[in-house]
Amino acid sequence: MNPVFAGLKTSIFEVMSLEARARGAINLGQGFPESDGFPEVRQAAAVALMEQSNQYAPMRGLPVLRQAVADFYARTQGLTLDPEHNVLITSGATEGLSAAILSLVTPGDEVVVFEPMYDAYLPLIRRAGGVPRIVQLQPPHWTFSEADLEAAFSERTRLVLITTPNNPTTHALDRDELELLQRFCVRHDAWLVSDEVWEQIVFGQPHLSALHLPHLAKRTLKIGSAGKIFSLTGWKVGFVCGPQVLVDQVARAHQFITFATPPALQHGVAFGLGLPPERFAAALAELEDLRDILASRLTDAGFKVLPPQGTYFLNLDLTASGIGESAIDYAGRLVRDHGVAAIPLPAFCDGGRELSVLRLCFAKSPATLEQAATLLIASR
Ligand code: GLN
Repeated sequence: MNPVFAGLKTSIFEVMSLEARARGAINLGQGFPESDGFPEVRQAAAVALMEQSNQYAPMRGLPVLRQAVADFYARTQGLTLDPEHNVLITSGATEGLSAAILSLVTPGDEVVVFEPMYDAYLPLIRRAGGVPRIVQLQPPHWTFSEADLEAAFSERTRLVLITTPNNPTTHALDRDELELLQRFCVRHDAWLVSDEVWEQIVFGQPHLSALHLPHLAKRTLKIGSAGKIFSLTGWKVGFVCGPQVLVDQVARAHQFITFATPPALQHGVAFGLGLPPERFAAALAELEDLRDILASRLTDAGFKVLPPQGTYFLNLDLTASGIGESAIDYAGRLVRDHGVAAIPLPAFCDGGRELSVLRLCFAKSPATLEQAATLLIASR
């Protein structure tokens, strides 16, 4: 068996969700909203399911969806994308990421990544034969310096993988950080995969895409997720956008992973991306209210909440909150004895690096958040 997979444990998200279900715990672990996503988007998909073709969609995605993705990014981020050459539809952002990594990384290539990182990255890099070069980031700012990049890049660097805003840290890379990365990517002739699935959930500032930087735009694949945009995480519809030469290469891998994505869901997403800006603003405002409910309850009770910049997540600095045990032990005790599932940040680190931070998903109803806060407060 392939040792990359033989040595892998089940994803922490699955483990925590199973544990929460088995124990009847409140699940603030795996990041998914408690209320189902945009009803008008589900309705559009339901109509398409009955009235449109249910046979294979085109491998690169329905033309109507690729056009909608290009229009959406033009409207919301000022990006210029040709739907035919610069947009590929995948079965979820994770499939987009795997197709990107598998098609760009050759065995022995080095891939620069930033830790803590989304748990799929390392196995995908290793499966492609890539060698991860990990930059360890520290709370509360989770930023990197020129010296960090100097140490991570080498003449074997082929690819850099970033997430902005980040899961789990929530940090949104600013222009200075992206410019520094741009300098290194150009110097080392490296490609960038920019996982921007949280681009619609950014607080208090416009989303900055890697495609906004002119030299990065020539070497970046931007990954997007309809599941995150519409709070429909089970749909698994993703977008890969970038220069034609890169998108063509990713499409070659995609065609032999999932080949194509369910057409009714693509129709639903195409409809949704055309909704007016107020609709998206309302969805964001709703999430911000939920974030504030959880953050204020926990802060008032003496927890140290790290300021969130985006995503569905709040991070607690456990040491600063007066919790002495490790994040993994605390998360275990929390789900076992107090009925709340959460994700300890060491789960996002290679080789169990100790990080005294706990990730909580706040995309839940106010009542669920109140109840979870009460249980968390009782656990201290
Ligand atoms: N993105 C989700 C999270 O961070 C998990 C997705 C998954 O379970 N594959 O919680």
